[in-house]
Amino acid sequence: MFPTTTVGSLPKPDWLAEPEKLWAAWRLTGEALQQAKERAALEWLREQEAAGIDIVGDGEQFRMHFVHGFLEGLDGIDWTRKTRMGIRNNRYEADVPTVTGPLQRPRPVHVPDAAFMRRHTTQKLKITLPGPMTICDTLADGYYGRRADMAMRFAELLNAEAREIEAAGAEVIQFDEPAFNVFLDEVREWGLPALERAMQGLRATTVVHICYGYGIEANIQWKASLGDQWRQYEQIFPWINASSVQQVSLEFAGSRVPHEVLRLLPDKTLLVGAIEVLPGKLESPEEVAHNILEATRHVESARLVPCTNCGMAPLPAALARSKLHALGAGAALARRQR
Ligand code: ZN
Repeated sequence: MFPTTTVGSLPKPDWLAEPEKLWAAWRLTGEALQQAKERAALEWLREQEAAGIDIVGDGEQFRMHFVHGFLEGLDGIDWTRKTRMGIRNNRYEADVPTVTGPLQRPRPVHVPDAAFMRRHTTQKLKITLPGPMTICDTLADGYYGRRADMAMRFAELLNAEAREIEAAGAEVIQFDEPAFNVFLDEVREWGLPALERAMQGLRATTVVHICYGYGIEANIQWKASLGDQWRQYEQIFPWINASSVQQVSLEFAGSRVPHEVLRLLPDKTLLVGAIEVLPGKLESPEEVAHNILEATRHVESARLVPCTNCGMAPLPAALARSKLHALGAGAALARRQR
């Protein structure tokens, strides 16, 4: 009961990239960089195992950013042609690369990372990929003309990547779609169809992660503007429940998400956020257990996977380490109290 996992990203050590920063540049190049990524991924793997995390991952140590890591491996994107764009419906602005031609995947992107992780652990392995809608909200389109068309092309490439990641030994493949909480109507129109295309034919367990974003300032301000009750999940969960995705990762602990929304996913396994990702807060195992047991008021224990609210990449490494251990210990406590 209550197998644990994380959303995916974990902080980079300061010898790999500048800490507590998204899109932080690598400190090394070439073979030295590859070795440093592997060392960082292994250190986080051992930390997850020591903390009692059941479904482990690479902490996204092989990629600079959860979206651009995949995009860097594709053809059709001009990285020198930067377009200033409002991201997540103008929550913040960024200079993003531009799609200038047909998108292609000339070679596998994260498949070698998955194979490396498979060689080093016998635990269940989860690999994360960005979802098509969130990709389309993180780069500019100078070629396809319609976001829905560009999303479907990304979905085809993601599907090819996911099938190879599965063949490399990952049991769980997660697609990150924070944009689902922003463009609600478009989720039904083309976001969910594109996600289903990305998952087509997979035998691995499929997950979609939908959150209110990393614990960075722009997101903290956005959350403050959403009112006393965050109702976004209420609109999209019925559509998600009717889809073929098997598991849904959602924000829960310390958020203003009404807890009853868990009831809108009666046919899915839920990765419930029992750990917040704001800087400066460390949960005790008792608090984590409380969050898990609170969720069991709305969803049977057998469908519940305690998780983090979002990735922990922007947090100080020591805090993220402590949170991993709090998650493992809290789930163990919840099993005893159940
Ligand atoms: Zn997230």
